[in-house]
Amino acid sequence: MQPKQTRHPRLARGSQATITADAWGSRPPLEAGVTDHLWLPYSQMKTALPPLPVARTEGSRIILKDGRELIDGIASWWTACHGYNHPHIRASVQKQLEIMPHVMLGGLVHEPAATLSARLATLTSLPRVFFADSGSIAVEVALKMALQYWQNLGRPEKNKFICFTNGYHGDTMGAMSVSDPAQSMHKAFKSIVPKQYVVDVGDFAALESALKQKDVAAVIIEPLVQGAEGMKFHSADTLAKIYSTTKKHGALFIADEIATGFGRTGTMFACEQAAITPDILCVGKALTGGTMTLAATLASQAVFDAFYSDDPDKAFMHGPTYMANPLACASANASLDLFEREPRLKQIAAIEAQLREELEPCRSLSNVVDVRVKGAIGVVQLKEIDVKKLRAEFVERSVWIRPIKDVIYLMPAFTISQEELRQLTAAVYKTIAS
Ligand SMILES: *Cc1c(COP(=O)(O)O)cnc(C)c1O
Repeated sequence: MQPKQTRHPRLARGSQATITADAWGSRPPLEAGVTDHLWLPYSQMKTALPPLPVARTEGSRIILKDGRELIDGIASWWTACHGYNHPHIRASVQKQLEIMPHVMLGGLVHEPAATLSARLATLTSLPRVFFADSGSIAVEVALKMALQYWQNLGRPEKNKFICFTNGYHGDTMGAMSVSDPAQSMHKAFKSIVPKQYVVDVGDFAALESALKQKDVAAVIIEPLVQGAEGMKFHSADTLAKIYSTTKKHGALFIADEIATGFGRTGTMFACEQAAITPDILCVGKALTGGTMTLAATLASQAVFDAFYSDDPDKAFMHGPTYMANPLACASANASLDLFEREPRLKQIAAIEAQLREELEPCRSLSNVVDVRVKGAIGVVQLKEIDVKKLRAEFVERSVWIRPIKDVIYLMPAFTISQEELRQLTAAVYKTIAS
């Protein structure tokens, strides 16, 4: 049975948007309660705020089941860079759904993956693309690639990584091991994950001394912006120097652009601002414009060549079941079309200017430690923070903003209107001031 379509009351004026009569469709959740059987992410299930039931999304808006609308300040974990439900992405995925929703990549290949790999190679100057289904897996792939690169070259002792304080690279074992071990959300696993060398960004003496260890395989960093562990920035010069120091000592350089990739810091990739090409690059999050789950690990010719051999043992042994899912690749290709057709980098520059102007007044508030902006990322760092209370207050102000650690940050869709962004920055100011 088709659910009846009715016009959404809050969108009625001048809007074509419609909503199903029952927002949950024809199969509503059991009466018992919508979250009785869900285990939610990063949540103490006993004390967390109950999640808000969402009916639909449109542009930069999340429309709740009860009719309230929230302006999304974080683009669904930094993914929906063209806004939600972009018609071009939707049409591309729909078309692909008709042709072939999925086929395995083992021994087979398809146009969406071939096209996407070529486009990513062109954008990054890295010729080989290994697809994965989430950012954490793209990082695992990068780490395995780096380890086996050295094995294949007859240097198996190179089996450690250099990573950075305040770094975050994902939630799986290898990714946790290269995330900040002390501060980290993963501290429960500190004694279990492999130990790596951890240095402060900008501490070149520590970096040099770690690079002199003979077991170092690679350096892994989130270029320009360290995201999930606190939204710390470093300059393009610092990044360039980390890269050149790494290369001087012969280690591989892995850039994790899962958060920074696809325009977020003002250029298509953050590495461009330091004029560096990493040996291995991870992308994810905004790769599909926030529509499907997809990530990729890109490798230089030199990395690929270390695996290219008559020896089957030198092959790279990894292969996610849904690797390069055609719907996800179609979504990513459509997202890249939008970067080509629409003035995204100009929009990001305009967002950057507006964030600078409108977040700056926060600096004078007594609870504020720092205000910083890079590309379409605006951060207000606080002295004291009650994350749970703030999250509830933001919903009261009709915005979707999720503070982490000691920061309130905005990472909106690049298509957000000036007025919507103004409402977000106003909500940040008023919430801190109140
Ligand atoms: C989000 C993120 C990851 C993990 O990606 P998932 O898709 O959540 O597994 C890895 N690295 C960085 C920099 C990220 O921001």
